Amino acid sequence: MSQQAARHSALVKETAHSLGFDFCGIAKAEFLEDEAPKLEAWLKQGMQGQMAYMANHFDKRLDPTLLVPGAKSVISLGYTYFPEQSIPEDNTYHIARYAYGQDYHHVIKSKLRTLLEKLTEKIGNIEGRAFVDSAPVMERQWAQRAGNGWIGKNSLLLNRQLGSYFFLAELIIDLELEPDGPVQDYCGTCTRCIDACPTDAIPQPYVVDGSRCISYLTIELKEAIPNEFEDKMENWIFGCDICQEVCPWNRFAKPHQEPAFGAHPDLADMKYEDWEEITRDTFQKIFKKSAVKRTKYEGLVRNIQMAAKGKK
Ligand code: SF4
Ligand code: SF4
Repeated sequence: MSQQAARHSALVKETAHSLGFDFCGIAKAEFLEDEAPKLEAWLKQGMQGQMAYMANHFDKRLDPTLLVPGAKSVISLGYTYFPEQSIPEDNTYHIARYAYGQDYHHVIKSKLRTLLEKLTEKIGNIEGRAFVDSAPVMERQWAQRAGNGWIGKNSLLLNRQLGSYFFLAELIIDLELEPDGPVQDYCGTCTRCIDACPTDAIPQPYVVDGSRCISYLTIELKEAIPNEFEDKMENWIFGCDICQEVCPWNRFAKPHQEPAFGAHPDLADMKYEDWEEITRDTFQKIFKKSAVKRTKYEGLVRNIQMAAKGKK
């Protein structure tokens, strides 16, 4: 690897950290050979549920040069969202911690653009694209290749310093950089996430059946939630953090410093009855800038009604 690539890599990491990213690793932009058969098998078993986008662009998802012509490097970044204080869980339904504050897509995408601009200023013209939670990019696989962690048995990326409460984002660029090595798997003999999942959505280690996962049921599923999950929602009405809460690596989770991720002040006061009587106006007010908007008012009401059947 050239000295220039090493210098540029150091610059990328330094700039990423200065913008608040918690980690930044680099992988060579190449075809994801090992992942291709796994993705195919997962799709064949229908584990994507209604997430048709998972099956689309199969080749693009495996080959970054189809997303950015001439791509040489994938920069994988992480941004923690673990809150200083979780919303108290007594007498109320739960929403996943990542959705407490403003929609991360906007917050992180703008940071990624700034990163690309700053690199272009210092290095010269760089062609590239920024991705946040974007269907054609296999984010966790790139993060693992870039040395940012390993994919745990709950299928999330785990980082030894931070646990798993962070967003992943990528810059795919045509600049040659020095790749960081992959990280080994530190799940060991632990099976806490598998044992704790209320819907048995982890049928075997490292495989999450999307069509049984509460995150999917409360966010992606457009129709009624099947009755078999009636008493299994464990009070979750948008997303689910159970397999993160039980993961021992999350004892290392560090609170974020991002003002945009702070919860709306009214959220902490919402109790069972407030949720059950939520009006369209309250929904608009509390979730105006939040990722929860994705379910729309009707979707959230559906989730609340379902969770209410098995209220804990
Ligand atoms: S998010 Fe919840 S439902 Fe989905 S796999 Fe994890 S524990 Fe199971
Ligand atoms: S709970 Fe245990 S098995 Fe599951 S991801 Fe965490 S360390 Fe791995």
